[in-house]
Amino acid sequence: MEISIPTLLRIKPNALYKLGKYLRKEQFVRIGLFYGSGLKEMFEEQLKITFDSSEIELVYEDVVETNAIEEIYKTAYSLPETVQAIVAIGGGKVIDYCKYIAFMLQIPIISVPTSISNDGFASPGASLFVNGKRKSLKAKIPFGVVIDTEIIRKSPSYYTYSGIGDLISKYTAVYDWKAAYRVRQEPVNDFAVLISTNAVENMVNYKNKDIEDLEFLRLICGCLVMSGVAMEVSGSSRPASGSEHLISHAYDMIAQKPSLHGIQVGVATYAVSWLQKNPEHQTIKRVLEETGFIDYVSKNCLKKSDFIDAIKFAPNIKHNFYTVLSERENIKKLIDYVETDEYFGKLIAE
Ligand SMILES: [Zn+2]
Repeated sequence: MEISIPTLLRIKPNALYKLGKYLRKEQFVRIGLFYGSGLKEMFEEQLKITFDSSEIELVYEDVVETNAIEEIYKTAYSLPETVQAIVAIGGGKVIDYCKYIAFMLQIPIISVPTSISNDGFASPGASLFVNGKRKSLKAKIPFGVVIDTEIIRKSPSYYTYSGIGDLISKYTAVYDWKAAYRVRQEPVNDFAVLISTNAVENMVNYKNKDIEDLEFLRLICGCLVMSGVAMEVSGSSRPASGSEHLISHAYDMIAQKPSLHGIQVGVATYAVSWLQKNPEHQTIKRVLEETGFIDYVSKNCLKKSDFIDAIKFAPNIKHNFYTVLSERENIKKLIDYVETDEYFGKLIAE
């Protein structure tokens, strides 16, 4: 199995001003540029300066409004052959879109997230719409990840909370993976577990968990990159995604107003870690409190009935994927917990 790892990594304040320089260094001088919806107006001027000064030629430019695979096919085949690399600027949608184009055309993609709501900006998968249904597909892991931490700091705080929720879930994901080995002998990739565990522990052990702190943001970005790399190393989503992700995916399908991926995942991680008797349950609680995640969610609760329905539906989300929720009695146990635990009750509302 061939493993690719992001080669170009720049995570620092004002990195966007130097994007042209970074691209030239890698000898990508003719690029296709893709903006997320509404972002062209915000960054066009800044990018023109950095591209012009490094003599980067924009041979294709587009704004991505959809994640339908039919659109991606069309765009991929209309991309000029002279394009040496594609650059995706924005959130999950444009990055997933471009990762799939890169996968189809076998060209490098540079991901430039403007918020860090999940680990998708450095992962080898893409969440796309196929025949109107959301699907997780294999795509290309980015060749480069460039994150301007000043832009992340200015992004709405719920995006960063979402990234924190996605990151803390490595504890429960790894636990489920190991349980799948014990119960079903599913092989575990120890190196992927190491990367994933180190990623979350890096965040946990950082003292000043202030989402306005550029150094903390840089660290979270790096940890999310490692989470993406762990998936590439194992060739599966296992090191980054377990029962807590199943609940979040189910919630996306059930809820009228789903929240952000990592917000749902973070809430589910807290609950599932209790069910797993995960030794990190208290750590998870502490970190979610220290970062302000709990405070944010208690003011922007998930819907209780939808969350309970999501727990019930979660085991059906992925075929042949053992987690703590595969044991029927555990579903009931978790629902009881969600309904009665006073602390957890702060995170959900009628
Ligand atoms: Zn996730």
